[in-house]
Amino acid sequence: MIQVPRGTADILPGEIELWQYIEDKARDICRRYNYLEIRTPIFEHTELFHRGVGETTDIVEKEMYTFEDRGGRSLTLRPEGTASTVRSYVENKMFGLPQQPTKLYYIGPMFRYERPQAGRMRQFTQFGVEAIGSNSPAIDAETIALAMRFYEELGLKNLHVELNSLGDAESRKAHREALINHFKPHIHEFCSDCQSRLERNPLRILDCKRDADKELMKNAPVILNYLNDESSAYFDKVKKHLDDLGIAYVVNANLVRGLDYYTHTAFEIMERGIGAVSTICGGGRYNGLVKEMGGSDVPGIGFAMSIERVLLALKTQGIELPIERALDCFIIGMGEEAEEKAFLLLDVLRREGLSADKDFLDRKMKAQLKAADRLRAKTVVIIGEDELARGVAVLKNMETGDQQEVAFEQVASAVQSVIEKDK
Ligand code: ATP
Ligand code: MG
Repeated sequence: MIQVPRGTADILPGEIELWQYIEDKARDICRRYNYLEIRTPIFEHTELFHRGVGETTDIVEKEMYTFEDRGGRSLTLRPEGTASTVRSYVENKMFGLPQQPTKLYYIGPMFRYERPQAGRMRQFTQFGVEAIGSNSPAIDAETIALAMRFYEELGLKNLHVELNSLGDAESRKAHREALINHFKPHIHEFCSDCQSRLERNPLRILDCKRDADKELMKNAPVILNYLNDESSAYFDKVKKHLDDLGIAYVVNANLVRGLDYYTHTAFEIMERGIGAVSTICGGGRYNGLVKEMGGSDVPGIGFAMSIERVLLALKTQGIELPIERALDCFIIGMGEEAEEKAFLLLDVLRREGLSADKDFLDRKMKAQLKAADRLRAKTVVIIGEDELARGVAVLKNMETGDQQEVAFEQVASAVQSVIEKDK
């Protein structure tokens, strides 16, 4: 038997309703914050991620699904959404649109070759937003608020934002030099990844999981001490906006996002479940990225979270989403002719916007009623031979048990009014 590939999963009816609920919620909150949906291809030229994510990141160094197509091109299944969104922004000249900043969101599958575990899949679904074209600290706060309100509306509690600033190019350069001076004399004690990052991207050393406990790591120069006045002022404004919105955050000077081209604001949203603390969302400002992708010098900020981690957080916190799974009407026709009538009525109900079904397995009356129960039908319509002759059907309210006879032409409106009354 062939099974799903490691790190992937089928999402079946019964669970898919949770996904749909969360995705609908994401779409709705984006509508309210005026972010518009973008859908980009699942695969892109490999080069896009080398430039847009960064050569020295875990994603590019270890996690990409890269393949050659039949025309000899190197393509990669997208590991994240920002590079593609920015590519599309530049390619489609969205900077020329009258409405700026360009506020976009996406929901779709991403692919990373990882060691699978709960909340860490090889194919996972990310919801992310990008606001491109504004340098206002208020938009940093807006993106963070969007994510936090989204979680609140799902019922999640015990969340907080971890916040840091990576400063502007000048601040980063000063910090970079300090890092190199700090690590260089002892770099041979670090893992090979760290060694190769020392000159290429020393900031990434701080993100190393293998060497995390080293003393040199703990007293490494902190970016916040290297922010120039402008960057400090920017960071203060972001914090003030978050204070004003009542969004809980803590400054974590060690927070380094795994991706290059991040400037100023970097954040992660953490969930303190039972014991463990885990990241459910990551984001930040990327003022260097659009230019790197061949556009002009346009700033941007965004975040991404996976639906998998949202589901995990909901589960940890014991939150049940209000999902109603019920059929409006189940129709039963006894005898061949009545069944034909039932089949036609089914069509009428569905065209009226009701969810309706019938038996397709020639089951006995009793088994059909059982099926209706299983489907949590709100109403059952029964047509026997006697009813058929008189042009009526018996409509049963499954909640109260009440029954009434209704003419065929009235079945749809009668079902509708039973459902309305029960709401
Ligand atoms: P981590 O340190 O957990 O690997 P990351 O820095 O690689 O995270 P990002 O690239 O910032 O994560 O992705 C943003 C969000 O996407 C994460 O906060 C998480 O919600 C989700 N995510 C990342 N990788 C996976 C995965 N393999 N499976 C499920 N969700 C993921
Ligand atoms: Mg990762």
